[in-house]
Amino acid sequence: MKRLLILGGTGDAVQLAARAIDLPGLEVVTTLAGRTNNPQAVLGTVRIGGFGGEAGLVAYLQTEKIDFIIDATHPFAAQISGHVAGAATKVGIPRLLLVRPAWVRSIEDTWIEVERIEAAVQAIPASAERIFVTIGRQQLAPFAVLTDRWCLMRSIDPPDPSIPLPPGKLLLDRGPFSLEGERQLLREYQIQAIVSKNSGGEATYAKIIAARELGLPVVMVQRPIVPEGERVADVAGAVEWLIDRLEINSITSKTH
Ligand code: NAP
Repeated sequence: MKRLLILGGTGDAVQLAARAIDLPGLEVVTTLAGRTNNPQAVLGTVRIGGFGGEAGLVAYLQTEKIDFIIDATHPFAAQISGHVAGAATKVGIPRLLLVRPAWVRSIEDTWIEVERIEAAVQAIPASAERIFVTIGRQQLAPFAVLTDRWCLMRSIDPPDPSIPLPPGKLLLDRGPFSLEGERQLLREYQIQAIVSKNSGGEATYAKIIAARELGLPVVMVQRPIVPEGERVADVAGAVEWLIDRLEINSITSKTH
């Protein structure tokens, strides 16, 4: 048997685990940082919690005799992706990055593109008094300076109570989000600008379409740089990579 480690925290990682456990001769372990209280169910073995930096991950890969590693973390989870790249090189095992393509601005979009969350706060148009902040819960603190605005902040779990927040409302919800739902939300809360990370994928794209329809500006935080190396854009590509590595006939694997 060969052993695959999937670095998770995304819907793609969940789908990949479900596909990979059906491949003959492969054991699948998915690891999660343990940030969300009720993570999506993952098939196969699941391990929760950090490794203790790159050195901890190197030790884990060696102890657990991992043969392949697929980094299917969120495009904004730059630290763990750096650790995975470094550890895979040190241990000498093949690594694949599964990263969905970034959203591309259409001609009807009004995007203000910024490099970092801190810059996003500064880039919000002065005329926008009611802002929809959809960046998760971990980086809300910089928005606390917006004391004269009103922010609708959406995340899966509530932010840590020690994090300072701007005036506004917390909305706890998990995607995928429908276009009709997002349209309604923007109208109901009279939103005038949106702050988003360029996460890519379908599950959270409806807010971008709804903003386009309503002519709202979107302050779009660009992705951090990810390590070089082999990469695919979807789960099917990752399964093909595994099939090649396992040297199994793809017809056998599909009927297994
Ligand atoms: P990060 O800054 O890149 O990583 C911080 C630390 O969390 C890592 O050094 C590692 O701890 C641990 N970690 C991260 N992902 C892990 C995994 N899959 N398995 C085990 N340990 C992991 O990550 P982040 O931005 O805080 O995101 C945390 C997790 O949430 C990621 O897995 C990511 O896929 C998911 N997520 C992030 C975002 C986002 O916008 N950042 C959005 C949706 C989901 P050690 O150094 O101790 O090993």
